[in-house]
Amino acid sequence: MSAIDGLPPLGRVIAAHGLTARKSLGQNFLLDLNLTAKIARQAGDLARADVLEVGPGPGGLTRGLLAEGARHVLAVEKDARCLPALAEIAAAYPGRLEILHADALEVDPAAHLTPPIRVVANLPYNVGTELLVRWLTPRDWPPFWESLTLMFQREVAERIVAQPGSKAYGRLAVLAQWRAEARIAMHLPPGAFTPPPKVSSAVVHLTALPAPRYPADPKVLERVVAAAFNQRRKMLRAALKGLAPDIEARLAAAGIAPTDRAEQVSLAQFCALARELA
Ligand code: SAM
Repeated sequence: MSAIDGLPPLGRVIAAHGLTARKSLGQNFLLDLNLTAKIARQAGDLARADVLEVGPGPGGLTRGLLAEGARHVLAVEKDARCLPALAEIAAAYPGRLEILHADALEVDPAAHLTPPIRVVANLPYNVGTELLVRWLTPRDWPPFWESLTLMFQREVAERIVAQPGSKAYGRLAVLAQWRAEARIAMHLPPGAFTPPPKVSSAVVHLTALPAPRYPADPKVLERVVAAAFNQRRKMLRAALKGLAPDIEARLAAAGIAPTDRAEQVSLAQFCALARELA
């Protein structure tokens, strides 16, 4: 029995249910329940929130969230093999864990949850990035979530929190920092996972701001930032020339030198340019 919840240790759960990790589903499991409880604590006050957990797998992080007092957890898992193990956790926490067998890219989790909602996930990196961009780019703000606590490969985590002037600064940094507060909460070595991935990982914690830091239309801002960083080595007057015939004047009006490159442009300047181009 494990110390945090009286359920069997995860190694035994995995053996009992034949949950050999599948590469195609990005399965690198966390088996240390003290570690998963620590990750759960990074998500803030769970007792007053519903939690969306994407990709619970055998349930290590799910158990951490429940042991840390999450009011209600909705766990969305694509791999049917994990469902019996997750059902055992649901039985140990009556009424607090709902399991949805689905592809997280295809469901609307907000329909199953009561605000405030916190999102916590250790997902395959490609799915994680796609979901992060979706969660960051709704038309209206504030979004359905109040915070996101997500595992990424370290390099992606660094892109989310990057500042202008660094190589890691790009579309993810601008989209994340425009309407949220983003920080790296934890670093994890490959050996924290079974099987270990090739690279280090980090947990990023994002808190939704009540309103964007600077006014801008989300679609226009996304278009500007995508164009600017798609050709990040080019001067902006060249990289953005497709956006407006008088792009040099628009850049100048936004306080940006037409000879600058995307990497040098602050969030405030990107928003000013989006307003110019709206
Ligand atoms: N949360 C568990 C842990 O920390 O040990 C498992 C993490 S493992 C990195 C990723 C999990 O996401 C796997 O259980 C995998 O089956 C699931 N998964 C992968 N793609 C998914 C998707 N599109 N929707 C829902 N779950 C997915």
